[in-house]
Amino acid sequence: MTSDDAARTRVSRRTVLRGAAATGFLGAVGAAGALAGSPAAAAPDPGATAIVIGSGFGGAVAALRLGEAGITTTVFERGRRWPIRADGTTFATMTAPDGRASWFSGRAGVDSRLAVPVERYPGLQDRIVGNGVEAVYGAGVGGGSLAFGAFLPQPRAQDFRHVFPGAVDYAELDRTYYPRAKKMLGAAPLPDDILAHPRYVGARTWLDVLKRYGPDDVAFFDYAIDWDIVRQEIAGTRTPSIINGELTYGVNSGAKNSVDHNYLPAAEATGHVTVKPMHEVYRIRPRSRRPGFEVTVRVIDDAHRTVRTVRQEADYLFLAAGSFHTTAMLVGARARGELPGLSPRVGEGFGTNGDFLAIRLNPSDETGPVQGGPGYARMYEDDLPGGPVSIVYQATPLPAPMGEAATTHLVQAHTDERGTIDYRRSTGTAVLNYPHPAQSSRLDRRAVAFLDRFHQRTEGRFGRPASGVPVYSRATGFGSGSTYHGLGGVVMGSAASHYGEVKGYSNLFVMDGSLLPGAVGLVNPALTITAMAERNMDHFLATR
Ligand SMILES: Cc1cc2nc3c(=O)[nH]c(=O)nc-3n(C[C@H](O)[C@H](O)[C@H](O)COP(=O)(O)OP(=O)(O)OC[C@H]3O[C@@H](n4cnc5c(N)ncnc54)[C@H](O)[C@@H]3O)c2cc1C
Repeated sequence: MTSDDAARTRVSRRTVLRGAAATGFLGAVGAAGALAGSPAAAAPDPGATAIVIGSGFGGAVAALRLGEAGITTTVFERGRRWPIRADGTTFATMTAPDGRASWFSGRAGVDSRLAVPVERYPGLQDRIVGNGVEAVYGAGVGGGSLAFGAFLPQPRAQDFRHVFPGAVDYAELDRTYYPRAKKMLGAAPLPDDILAHPRYVGARTWLDVLKRYGPDDVAFFDYAIDWDIVRQEIAGTRTPSIINGELTYGVNSGAKNSVDHNYLPAAEATGHVTVKPMHEVYRIRPRSRRPGFEVTVRVIDDAHRTVRTVRQEADYLFLAAGSFHTTAMLVGARARGELPGLSPRVGEGFGTNGDFLAIRLNPSDETGPVQGGPGYARMYEDDLPGGPVSIVYQATPLPAPMGEAATTHLVQAHTDERGTIDYRRSTGTAVLNYPHPAQSSRLDRRAVAFLDRFHQRTEGRFGRPASGVPVYSRATGFGSGSTYHGLGGVVMGSAASHYGEVKGYSNLFVMDGSLLPGAVGLVNPALTITAMAERNMDHFLATR
């Protein structure tokens, strides 16, 4: 061992312990009496190398845990970094979108049909226009956490068990991995003093609407928000962002706890992890002389031109490019013969998380001229034929005084409707196919029936049929015509093991939403992706 190696090993051991303590990990495994075989007990291996593709929730967890274990790790991320600027102008805004809002598409908006022209730029939202659905992803160092609405709900046990294979133990996630993920993401509920602010009248009256619906199960959940910074927004010392309902083009005040504010800097601080922005991976193949993988990467500029290509190899490869792009890379590699041993199941099981987006027009309940974000309170209705449904309030980022015009709601229901991600030889690209049109979709039928019932019980029976009218046309990007929550493609127990190892190849893992079975159980998925990646990285480090 050289003196450099020895020094690296010493740093690795310290870093493992420091990282484990910071995340409460030692306490968790100690309580379970299971220190042996845990990552904290695994000896750092300074010779080992890993590549992580993508820096969203799954990639960020992988990077941190690999770095803590002393594994030299490179994270390739196709998008740019988004440091928060003191003048509050890091990101585009909903009222004045520009190229920063969209990934080289030349258009930005809630839906491609309603989008406005912008310059082509490596911006935040990547919209995959498939056959039958649009799936939106985040792009940049932090991935979807830059664009996400910061909702961090944990699914109920019964809803989780409805979608996940029995081999995944909800109780273990609940005990160890959800708390760890929440701690890392700075998860916190909406505080009372902020809820009392005039900007949050819409959140407060949403509770009145739910009371009119009837006595049901209302869940209050956490958000990846630094509420002290929101208090500064209210005080006028930070750029108003969250209090304007601005989240999905990024949060200029810095209040969003995206993974570039927590997991990724912690990974870099281990000294073993290098994050490379504007590096787009386009080829994966097994290394020729010994076990491991080689990736080929395009270094891109702001006009999406290739500046140069680089090749890098590693012992372990973790795909975390988001459900569409991870799956697209694999179906492409299988079709071109670069990874011929992949299961034919890769590409199957794409789901939209049971999402059905609706607005309620012209609500008679006060919502305020501007709706403060991110949203509030999920209600579960468990007494419907066909299974439970949930509905949550999301602030609508309309400029004043338009906040009074409509509220936005995500309805979620269990559905077995799934799509595929297929390789198209003629273009050499992957395509998303989701063959469930509105007329025949069971999800749509159930969600529409629920929304009609919701409207009748909260407005109609009080003589206000024109208030809170639900609108969900796919033609305007609502209903199930688009999703922010595309999951699956390399599903656990089918194309991959229950811990994310891709069938057919040792040391090749998926660590992102592609591993999940098309849904997480009637809630937004980011917390579950993070918790699952924590679980799977523990397993990797304990068993490699
Ligand atoms: C607008 C919006 C709002 C949302 N709101 C919420 C919410 O409130 N709560 C919630 O739970 N979920 C929300 N989501 C969903 C959530 O963001 C995703 O489920 C989550 O980010 C997926 O995590 P991931 O680890 O699978 O990958 P991602 O976070 O999608 O990260 C993948 C990363 O890989 C990179 N990448 C892709 N291809 C390549 C390549 N070839 N080479 C290198 N890098 C590549 C991408 O640029 C990206 O940074 C929202 C999503 C969007 C788009």
